[in-house]
Amino acid sequence: MNRYDVLVLGGGLAGAMAARAAAAAGADVAVVSKLHPLRSHTVAAAGGINAALAEGDSWEGHAFDTIKGSDYLADQDSVEIVCREAAAAVVEMDHLGTPFSRDETGKLFNRPFGGHGLPRAYFAGDRTGLSLMQTAWEQLVKKDITVYNEWAGTSIIVEEGRFAGIIAYNVADGTLDEFQAKALVICTGPGGQMYGKTTNAVTCTGDGLAMALRAGCALKDMEFVQFHPTSLHGPNILITEAARGEGGIMKNAKGERFMERYSPKMLDMAPRDIVSRAIQTEANEGRAYPEGYVDLDLTHLGAAKIKERLPEVHEFAVNFAGVDPAEKPIPIEPAQHYIMGGIATDNAGATAVPGIYAAGECACVSLHGANRLGGNALLECIVFGRLAGTAAADFAQKHAQVAGGAASLAADDRKIDGLMASEGKEGTERIRQELKKVMWEKVGIYRNEPDMALAVGAVNDLERRYANVRVGAKNKRFNYALLEALELKNLLDLAEVIAKGALIRRESRGAHARTDFPKRDDANWLTHSLAWQRGSRIEITYEPVRITNWEPKERTY
Ligand SMILES: Cc1cc2nc3c(=O)[nH]c(=O)nc-3n(C[C@H](O)[C@H](O)[C@H](O)COP(=O)(O)OP(=O)(O)OC[C@H]3O[C@@H](n4cnc5c(N)ncnc54)[C@H](O)[C@@H]3O)c2cc1C
Repeated sequence: MNRYDVLVLGGGLAGAMAARAAAAAGADVAVVSKLHPLRSHTVAAAGGINAALAEGDSWEGHAFDTIKGSDYLADQDSVEIVCREAAAAVVEMDHLGTPFSRDETGKLFNRPFGGHGLPRAYFAGDRTGLSLMQTAWEQLVKKDITVYNEWAGTSIIVEEGRFAGIIAYNVADGTLDEFQAKALVICTGPGGQMYGKTTNAVTCTGDGLAMALRAGCALKDMEFVQFHPTSLHGPNILITEAARGEGGIMKNAKGERFMERYSPKMLDMAPRDIVSRAIQTEANEGRAYPEGYVDLDLTHLGAAKIKERLPEVHEFAVNFAGVDPAEKPIPIEPAQHYIMGGIATDNAGATAVPGIYAAGECACVSLHGANRLGGNALLECIVFGRLAGTAAADFAQKHAQVAGGAASLAADDRKIDGLMASEGKEGTERIRQELKKVMWEKVGIYRNEPDMALAVGAVNDLERRYANVRVGAKNKRFNYALLEALELKNLLDLAEVIAKGALIRRESRGAHARTDFPKRDDANWLTHSLAWQRGSRIEITYEPVRITNWEPKERTY
């Protein structure tokens, strides 16, 4: 057993920033991470991080664009915090060593991103996430913060209504151990692997969200799932929005610049929900290529600019589609990309369970509401990672360690023994693939009542079948088959929350687009959903959206 003041679960950008802040506040901190921090999904982030740093820009302008982009579901006080802090956050990362791209005078370059009134995405080529993550990792090393690499959290221990510790699985040797601490910051990142088409890596299985749900935290606004318009047709590798920010243009199979129909003002730079629906509509109405993709044309940018500003896009297109983007358009299609919802937190990252905090993509402080604007997620990790780490350290200073954990350790031990001993007929991969298919087809870009009701039933059915799952590999060391079985349970639990929340919300708002309720309905649905685990049931309650300065208006672009 290990004991700390503060534990950070997940070593991505949010986790590293939370750990750094907790250590700076005087806490004894450790990070427990399923992957080495430099393999966290943050390294896939490409296009940029937002801040109102340019002349003529203001944090209020950034806040307004974010709130409008969110279809007025974001909590406006949370948006204000992040937009006010953005400039300092980007400058700090620059000073810590992030190699941001600059012009010949040394000033940071910026580029336009979808839904923003002004260019305010700062970038390091199209490897912004990798560069930020390397900087954050250096800080962990510099501050001598202990990192348990390849340890996957399996349960959060709650005793007497308070956080007491976590149970984690050591992938290297197959053992389980208890970690005690006074406070926890959950920073486990995305969970998009329940969708058939996704830009998220196979490791993005929403573990922290599912663990938090089981521990008594609420999951907020989970029905709002972002579909990114431009993933590479086939492998669904992200083609960053920066490609359009640098001047790329989408065309359908007839060569029409179809965004003129859907967003006459912002065209290709409209928010992602609008652009994804536009592509899907083109496909549904027979104007995409028969395989369902449309073209992203960068040829007019020229080889030099593409290689300088978009080196990854160039590499991905050449290596995975056999297309040189300087010569031919890139075939693109929408794919799941981000979950706007997450573990419900206040503006300090605190959840419903005392001692448990969350930050980054797995959290929902409600910055993104019903639709996230590109460039705001990396910013959220830095600003709210720091705030949550500081608050967790403060909590740890004021509270004693809660005893307990042996029962949770024994329960997880039994769960793993059960999976390893199972002679059941179900394979994890088959269930995972069926889950991905049903979520993509029935709870995807366009939604309706019969489809979503079917999805809820199908997910419940898969959950029943999971009881019969068998782990093929029986080795103790590096048993990824076992890890995948544990991850699958998390995906199933979260899929149920998403499908149920989407079925109940009878309106269209941001990324939640219902063909049977096509209009936004502020009178009934200007509310956040909160999903709670009650025994084996999911209960959904609602709470009002916090509005400060920006009254909801019709959203046109
Ligand atoms: C392809 C792509 C491009 C993107 N581009 C941009 C962009 O240009 N700008 C922008 O603002 N946003 C972008 N985003 C979104 C943004 O990158 C993410 O929201 C953000 O990086 C998430 O950071 P995080 O720290 O929350 O999660 P992650 O970086 O995913 O880190 C999560 C950590 O938790 C660990 N973990 C997971 N489960 C467990 C467990 N059970 N136990 C222990 N540890 C666990 C993981 O190993 C990892 O270390 C992009 C996203 C994608 C997918």
